[in-house]
Amino acid sequence: MTIPSGARYQVGSVEFAVVNDGDYFYDAGAVFGVVPRIMWERQIEGLDHQHRLTLGLNCLLLRSRGKTILIETGVGGKPGDRDSSSPASEGTLLTSLAAIGVQPADIDVVVNTHLHADHCGWNTSADPAGALTPTFPNASYVMSATEWRDATHPNERTRATYLGRNLDPIADRLDLIEGERAITDEVIFVPVPGHTEGHSTVVIRSGQEWAVYVGDMAQHRVQLERTPWVSGLDTLPLVSLETKKRLMDECIEAGALIAFCHGAYPGVGRMTRTAEGHRKWVDVEPLEHRHA
Ligand SMILES: [Zn+2]
Repeated sequence: MTIPSGARYQVGSVEFAVVNDGDYFYDAGAVFGVVPRIMWERQIEGLDHQHRLTLGLNCLLLRSRGKTILIETGVGGKPGDRDSSSPASEGTLLTSLAAIGVQPADIDVVVNTHLHADHCGWNTSADPAGALTPTFPNASYVMSATEWRDATHPNERTRATYLGRNLDPIADRLDLIEGERAITDEVIFVPVPGHTEGHSTVVIRSGQEWAVYVGDMAQHRVQLERTPWVSGLDTLPLVSLETKKRLMDECIEAGALIAFCHGAYPGVGRMTRTAEGHRKWVDVEPLEHRHA
């Protein structure tokens, strides 16, 4: 089995690799929300017989100022993590990290953009006796303080995705952030509310270049191109619309790389503007591919 692991990109003097936790199937109607099917159907390919999109689970691994940083941890591999939405019985994130020479104990910082179950599953693992422990024994877990509050006080809508098994075992490893903060001077945690109130991105900045990992600001690239196509999964749709517009315009102006959790691996591209003034996503190929 080929484990996607080696797609590398350069941002100034910082290199990042896209590692991957496999695929995830999700109902396309839920993803596109109030956008009529006749409009989104023309923009996508590969719906399965249950009308589901295949979503990637792309996570980033990078080193900056002596820290090894993992952004996002996918669906996970604990009992119950991989239901019918996750076709494999095992998540591939740890194998994908191992393929580029990284072991769980090497990770100093884990960053979660938010705490929905498809973004923080490998925060924790089950040992053979079934006890839950942090997967990355030497890491602090960085996330928005607002997101942690909301995830640990779920409501009727959010309780299916904010799962105690991904959260409780890391409760003494947290580094909760209010607002924006530099994790290093090259890696900045930036709030981008909309998908959830506490949803955040990570900006990688080196010299004149920058890249942004957009987390769940979109589940499909067309939602970044057509910013009014707000995801049906967003809890603050109008905030999400404004956040996407602002960030995508900044990315176009700067020529920033955009790394995209749910895109087909590796899910990295740039936003451009067509002669007609429309935003257009363009995939960016990695420096090289390495396979396990
Ligand atoms: Zn997601």
